[in-house]
Amino acid sequence: MADQAFVTLATNDSYAKGAMVLGQSLRRHKTSKKLAALVGPQVSEPCRSVLRRIFDEVRLVDVLDSRDAAHLALMKRPELGVTFTKLHCWTLTHYSKCVFMDADTLVLSNIDELFDREELSAAPDPGWPDCFNSGVFVYRPSVETYDKLLQYGTEEGTFDGGDQGLLNGFFGDWATADISKHLPFIYNLSSIAIYTYLPAFKRYGSNAKVVHFLGKTKPWSHGLEAKTKAISGGAHPSFLLDWWGLYSTSVMPMLQEEYGDQPFHTECVEEAVEESLASVAAALHLSPPPQQHEHQQHQQHQQASSEERKQKWEQGQADYMGTDSFDNIKTKLDTFLK
Ligand code: UDP
Ligand code: MN
Repeated sequence: MADQAFVTLATNDSYAKGAMVLGQSLRRHKTSKKLAALVGPQVSEPCRSVLRRIFDEVRLVDVLDSRDAAHLALMKRPELGVTFTKLHCWTLTHYSKCVFMDADTLVLSNIDELFDREELSAAPDPGWPDCFNSGVFVYRPSVETYDKLLQYGTEEGTFDGGDQGLLNGFFGDWATADISKHLPFIYNLSSIAIYTYLPAFKRYGSNAKVVHFLGKTKPWSHGLEAKTKAISGGAHPSFLLDWWGLYSTSVMPMLQEEYGDQPFHTECVEEAVEESLASVAAALHLSPPPQQHEHQQHQQHQQASSEERKQKWEQGQADYMGTDSFDNIKTKLDTFLK
């Protein structure tokens, strides 16, 4: 459908990479909808070129330059820069319905059925389930709604400092008014929930359709972080591997073409993948599947060797070609999940 679109936002090159991976994940799962990206003026020309190759439409939104209501609103509340930029998604009135997705989300299967929902449909936030998480939501572009949102933001502000607080204030009856506007959690599985309710993740995790890497550490920052940090950090490692897999196979080559001889941030892919593998292994060593507990002797042996291997991981001596190879870990992870 030409008048329906997935929409995302990137105000800098880091989030732009997230948007590229998101776009490729939607394409990979054969969406029939248009793809639109809103970009801020700081996004570099080569990154915009890559975005134009993936998205049907790349629109520059510059709240500071515009002489519209958003600019006025921003002068009164300068702290709401990115938030007011995100609200621009309501101005895409050449579409009748859209699904907004944060640049730090990744699509794991076709989700076109979301367009059957009405504004404002979203999934609960894991931190406070009577609020919706604003990383994935269905909405209807409308200049009238856009103006009301800006007015609301200027007068009432946002209780959490971001777009989620503003949108939950504005669509304040979401929690109670209409259950059809509650998207199942699998459409916005935040990495945090995996650790706060592990049994539920084990039960339902394989149904996930969208994973959301919310929080401070984003997939694209892993390659730049210390190994120990990555191991203890945020997202479920196998989703992290999915992200890096898509980035290295279907985004990096385009970035390389657009940048030519110019150097661009070569977050070392190998290092990031290694880190992801290390995270997988660390997670598995911490919670081995129950079938390994059958014989106590066997278990003790397992734990000892796990401990040994964990130490090796931490010293950066993982056996990536042998026991800790991607294939072995993936197989183990699959039995763990299914
Ligand atoms: N965003 C952006 N630039 C920024 C911060 C945020 O473009 O500097 C956009 C991007 O689409 C991002 C969304 O706003 O996914 C929401 O921010 P973020 O995902 O970092 O928040 P979280 O989901 O971690 O609460
Ligand atoms: Mn997010």
